[in-house]
Amino acid sequence: MQHLIPLAVIGDPIAHSLSPMLHGDIIRRHCLPYSFSAYQIKAGDTADFIQFAKKSGIQGFNATMPHKQALLELVDIVQEDASYYESINTVRIRDGILTGYNTDVTGLLTSLAAKDIKLQGKNLLILGAGGVAGSIVRAAHKENAQHVTILNRTLDKAAEICAGVTDCEVAQLTTEQITHFAQESDLIINCTPLGMEGIGLDFEDFSFLDDTGATVLDLIYRPSETSLLREAKERGLATLNGLGMLIYQGILAFELFTDVELNHQEEAEQLEALLG
Ligand code: NAP
Repeated sequence: MQHLIPLAVIGDPIAHSLSPMLHGDIIRRHCLPYSFSAYQIKAGDTADFIQFAKKSGIQGFNATMPHKQALLELVDIVQEDASYYESINTVRIRDGILTGYNTDVTGLLTSLAAKDIKLQGKNLLILGAGGVAGSIVRAAHKENAQHVTILNRTLDKAAEICAGVTDCEVAQLTTEQITHFAQESDLIINCTPLGMEGIGLDFEDFSFLDDTGATVLDLIYRPSETSLLREAKERGLATLNGLGMLIYQGILAFELFTDVELNHQEEAEQLEALLG
C-alpha cells in the first residue's frame, strides 16, 4: 500500500471544521499521496501536539481557535505576514523545523478581490475585536483603507487593536453605535460569532442596515447565509460570506504543506461547488 504523508488541522472545537473536506478534496482530485486528519487540541496543549506532529511525520498543519497566537512562540521561524498579523494559521514542517505562516488574511483579500472588493480608500466598520479582527485592521492599514471603526462588546480589546493605527476609532458594540457608524461605511465586516450555526446567538436588531450602502461581509460560512447577510440582501446591499476566505486560505496552506502548485481560481471554483 502507498505510504501517505500526513497533514492535519488542530483546534478546539474542531468537529465543525471544513478543512478535512477541503484538503481531502484537493488530495483526491489530484491523486496526491497525502492524508488529512483533524485533531481536537485544547489551549495549552499546542506544544504537545507539535512533538506528536514531528514524531508522526506530519508535514504541515492548519491551526484554528485557540492556537493561532500560541504558535507564534512555538514555531522555529515566523514568516513575515504571520509576524505582522500576529497570528499563525498554517505551519509547514521540514526536517523537524517548523515555519509559521498566515494564509487567513491573504485568503480574505483574495476572496474580496475575486468579487472586485478592495480595502484601499474604504471606510471599514469591523464588528468584533478578536484574533481575526486584529489581523483585518492591520491588513486595512497595509492596504491603505481610509478609516477603520471597531465596535466590540469589550471596549478595551478594540482599543488594544486600534492602538498605533492611524485613522482608527473604537466604540461599544450596541445597536445605536452600529447604526451611527454604518451610515458612513463602505464595508461592514462581522468578525463575531453572532449568527453562527449552533451557538444560538444573533444580532438583536438589523435596522442599522436601513441607512447604509455598505457591502456586508460575514466571516461566518455556516450557515452560508446568516441573518445579517439575509437582511442586508433584502435591503439590496451587496453581501459576501466567509467561505471564500476559508477556501483561499486552504489552497495557499496546501501549497505550503506540499510544494504542489495549484491553479487557485480553478481550485476555488471546485471547492465552492463542494462546500457551498
Ligand atoms: P475570537 O478571537 O474568539 O473573537 C470573537 C469576537 O467576537 C470577540 O471580539 C468577542 O467579543 C466577540 N463576541 C463573541 N461572542 C459575542 C457575543 N455574544 N456578543 C457580542 N460579541 C461577541 O474569534 P476570531 O478567531 O477572531 O473569529 C471571529 C469570527 O470569524 C468567528 O465567527 C469565526 O468563525 C470567523 N472566522 C472565519 C474564518 C474563515 O475562513 N471564514 C477564519 C477565521 C475565523 P469580546 O472581545 O467582548 O469577547
